[in-house]
Amino acid sequence: MAPPGETPAQGPVVGRFAPSPTGRMHAGNVFAALVAWLVAKSQGGRVVLRIEDLDAERSKPQFIDAVQRDFEALGLTWDEGPYFQHDREEAYRAAFDSLAERGLVYPCFCTRADLHAVSAPHRGEKPVYPGTCRNLTDEERAFRALERSAAQRLAVPDEDVAFVDQVQGFYAQNLGTDCGDFLVRRSDGAFAYQLAVVVDDAAQGVSSVVRGVDLLCSTPQQIHLQSLLGLPQPEYAHIPLLVAERDRRLSKRDKDAALDELLARFKSPEAVIGRIAGITGLAPTDDPVTPEELLRTFDLAALPTTFPDLVQVQWDRPCSSDEGASDLDDRDGDNDDG
Ligand code: GLU
Repeated sequence: MAPPGETPAQGPVVGRFAPSPTGRMHAGNVFAALVAWLVAKSQGGRVVLRIEDLDAERSKPQFIDAVQRDFEALGLTWDEGPYFQHDREEAYRAAFDSLAERGLVYPCFCTRADLHAVSAPHRGEKPVYPGTCRNLTDEERAFRALERSAAQRLAVPDEDVAFVDQVQGFYAQNLGTDCGDFLVRRSDGAFAYQLAVVVDDAAQGVSSVVRGVDLLCSTPQQIHLQSLLGLPQPEYAHIPLLVAERDRRLSKRDKDAALDELLARFKSPEAVIGRIAGITGLAPTDDPVTPEELLRTFDLAALPTTFPDLVQVQWDRPCSSDEGASDLDDRDGDNDDG
């Protein structure tokens, strides 16, 4: 018989924490890390810590230290890492080259303003790149390259990608019409989030990805990359977001949900975990609790696909009115500058 957490076909469960060190963690990040930890540990698995510092400008050394101290204080232990994306350039380049050699990527000269002008998605929808630069001639490319440096996009086929999410259930997207050609390299030369995360998850043996439902629409793109690169597909669990106010996700600018504020307000890491567990249904009460204690009753299948608006009113001070910021713009198809 396979030991706990191991199936003969799959090996041990490997989960991951993948924080972007662009600010202090907030309640939503803590909730995602807590569920990732519970999923791995409830199956006797391991957790990898990966610092997603692809965006060199926005990643700050003080947040790299802070996020590790925060995980430790909260009892969210990891077994491997930290791995840093800034060390992984070679691996990303190899994956990129393998796509480029097959003629699957093309240079895109669109500025952010161009992209927004042609594709103004409704709230909550992701922008779909309309393929403006896909069929430029070599001459046009050479000419445009004199003006600005190009980002690189993956040309996607008109194909459906479907998978069964452990929380959201069946999910399918058409790569062409729902996603569009997406960035694998930004115009500043940095490899894009979608490429890096797929290469890292495979290299680090990650078999269980738990993250916010805001990334659900990235998953078909990542599955497509896994299949092009011959990489295994992890299990995905996209958990509901804690919202700051109706339909607005928490961001690192929501100071009242920032972990340092929460620790000051609730007085102990156990009380913060207890509060998050209570409002998300991981525990029957808001009483202080440790991740270890939550393991006893943890059941991923019991998580709802979305939280009622009720969750929003549980933060007891008004949130900042700042617009929520995406941690990594290239997820949304922006070319980085322009
Ligand atoms: N680094 C991302 C974040 O902090 C998570 C990306 C992922 O889980 O794939 O939001």
